[in-house]
Amino acid sequence: MLEITNLHAEIDGKPILKGLSLTVNAGEVHAIMGPNGAGKSTLGYVLGGRPGYEVTDGSVTFAGQDLLDLEPHARAAAGLFLGFQYPVEIPGVSNLQFLRESLNSQRRARGEAPLSGGEFLKLARAQAAALEMDAEMLKRPVNVGFSGGEKKRNEMVQMGVLDPKFAILDETDSGLDIDALRIVGDGINRIMRAPDKSVLLITHYQRLLDYVKPDAVHILADGRIVKSGGPELALELEREGYAQVAA
Ligand code: ADP
Ligand code: MG
Ligand code: MG
Repeated sequence: MLEITNLHAEIDGKPILKGLSLTVNAGEVHAIMGPNGAGKSTLGYVLGGRPGYEVTDGSVTFAGQDLLDLEPHARAAAGLFLGFQYPVEIPGVSNLQFLRESLNSQRRARGEAPLSGGEFLKLARAQAAALEMDAEMLKRPVNVGFSGGEKKRNEMVQMGVLDPKFAILDETDSGLDIDALRIVGDGINRIMRAPDKSVLLITHYQRLLDYVKPDAVHILADGRIVKSGGPELALELEREGYAQVAA
């Protein structure tokens, strides 16, 4: 589903990703762990096509397509979803407006009919309910005044509405209390655990992986994957720390 080969990327001429290779097959959840500043969020942004992140070498194929050749909106329409470490606030645009426009522009790009107002509202309300988010929050401006945990939960509502093929979730567990962690973990499993979907879960902590069991765990350090293993690698990291395990 996703094949990253020798990816090099820089910001303002500063190399951040330095030969990163990673393959994620359909139906798999991969966790990426690694020290602060390793390039985890950069990887997410490069895959999402954020301006300012320049790819200088390597390739990324997504479902057989050259991902790096696609504009960001085309990547989203192809089924790529990026959950941000720091979700953006959009004053003046309600959650419902944002979700409906995002979903229908993706559907149009895929040649599918847009959802009617009624169909869309039903979908959005069902996703909010599944994430135990008050439906009133759908009417509020996107993430404005939301707590850290509410923003992360709102991202999962977005993911549920958009129903992507591949989700990159950047520290989706940060700022969540214990109940919210379970709700978000259940949401990831419900929305993304399917034979034709995959997830890249960027996290610092084992606790999310108790809910969303990874098929593989990778350590990203200084712009490349330095170690890969099974779920036990996350436990080993938690016990011994990055310096010890990645040495
Ligand atoms: P991680 O998510 O693993 O903590 P990041 O991908 O956010 O790391 O950052 C990787 C490195 O890139 C860090 O050294 C960070 O300071 C640097 N970096 C990130 N964004 C920018 C930017 N806009 N300008 C310059 N350096 C940046
Ligand atoms: Mg960080
Ligand atoms: Mg980060």
